[in-house]
Amino acid sequence: MKVKNNSFSGGYVFNLEGKPQDKVVELEIPSQVCIPLKQGFGQVVEPTVEPGEEVKAGQIIGKSDNSESTPVQASVNGTVKEVTSKAIIIEADGTSDWQPVEGHGSDWTSMSAEKIEELLYNSGVTSLDNQGIPTRYQSSSISTDDVKHVIIKGVESDPYNLSLSALLQDGKLSQFADGLKILHKILPQAKVHVAINKNRQNLIKELSNLVGSNNWVQLYSVEPKYPQGSDKVLIPTILGKEYTVGGSATKLGVIVFKMQTILHAYDAVVEGKPLIERLVSLSGEGWKENLHVKVRVGTPVEAITNKCLNNGNYRIVSGNILADQAVTSYKYPVTREFDNLSAVPEGEGREVFAFVRPGAKRASYSNAFLSALFSNLSSNCDTNVHGEERPCISCGYCEQACPVDIFPHLVEQYTAKSNVDDELIRYGIFDCVECNLCTFVCPSKRPLGKHIKQGKQFLMNKGYAVK
Ligand code: SF4
Ligand code: SF4
Repeated sequence: MKVKNNSFSGGYVFNLEGKPQDKVVELEIPSQVCIPLKQGFGQVVEPTVEPGEEVKAGQIIGKSDNSESTPVQASVNGTVKEVTSKAIIIEADGTSDWQPVEGHGSDWTSMSAEKIEELLYNSGVTSLDNQGIPTRYQSSSISTDDVKHVIIKGVESDPYNLSLSALLQDGKLSQFADGLKILHKILPQAKVHVAINKNRQNLIKELSNLVGSNNWVQLYSVEPKYPQGSDKVLIPTILGKEYTVGGSATKLGVIVFKMQTILHAYDAVVEGKPLIERLVSLSGEGWKENLHVKVRVGTPVEAITNKCLNNGNYRIVSGNILADQAVTSYKYPVTREFDNLSAVPEGEGREVFAFVRPGAKRASYSNAFLSALFSNLSSNCDTNVHGEERPCISCGYCEQACPVDIFPHLVEQYTAKSNVDDELIRYGIFDCVECNLCTFVCPSKRPLGKHIKQGKQFLMNKGYAVK
């Protein structure tokens, strides 16, 4: 198969201290889990168990047949302690076995599409990623017949990512290839596009050997530039500008899945394993060791921080440190969507005149700074702003870095003055993918991303719709 090389204009390659190594450690079963009744794509489901009931790991404990949703499962063996409208608390008995999904098997090639959809739904896998996996059970906002393109991302472009080699170790690449074929059985009309980090040439070659003879699949080698992993950037990178996504990718017949989703699909259909655990990378300087943990869904974040976090003041972020939210309570459970937890030192706020004393290990976009001369060195990452907010100097860095070709400084000037009107739509404000790269590269430390996001919200409140 000829592998395509696709890219987008703008973006930035991060090289930060604290990248997770490929080591994988299985965390012990927690004494208690909290299973939210909404996880991933779909509506909140109804509890189907009561306090005092004994449950097995993998058993369905919440389900709604009449809404877009996917059932939730107990992730441990134990006893239901509490049931609320939002979550179910289970006291674990410490055993690690699980109840397989009925009807699974290694003879998946002879299974009907209906059977495969049922296994994916009952295992919880259909809830994954932004749009869910479509089946006949209302598990996604798009029906199976309407899917034209499926994009699988193995991109590693965020400041911190789950490592593909940790995810695929122990022979998992062939399981991933079978997972693609399983997906093809329920979406036979869709073209499957697999985008892989260009630095992973061996992986691309091995995958090409496994699936390259199928004309429904195409492999791409993509630059690990942030924010290539954003669905709204990846879709036009792979399918072309006519697939620019405004509100929802499903309107264009496109769905995007992470590689971990495909492995969960394989586990459910072939091994009968329900979605009861996640592989999560521990990134950033706050962890004792940067590695990956296998953790049961519903485990409180504090079970990870108690064991793995250094002493000190760290901000914990689930997902992408530039665009996602900090974890506000360590009691918060690990959910089906988790794949990275970053722990970055909490900064002391703005440093006055920080821009006149940059160092080699200080991340900078500008060639005028020392760190740009040492691009091979990984730089430190904390939550500090490293400088006070100053007027825009029209350097154009935000424009160069913006992945969707808008003029962030111009849009920000309007929104910062609350001058929010439909002129901003002509400037492309709704194309912004909220990656915050403009804020990161700005030498004047202007909060561009924040102001642009506020401007979008203001326009939507006034009734303007995203295309
Ligand atoms: S304007 Fe939006 S899309 Fe462009 S760099 Fe800023 S946050 Fe990212
Ligand atoms: S990066 Fe900052 S200083 Fe440079 S043009 Fe953009 S807003 Fe202005």
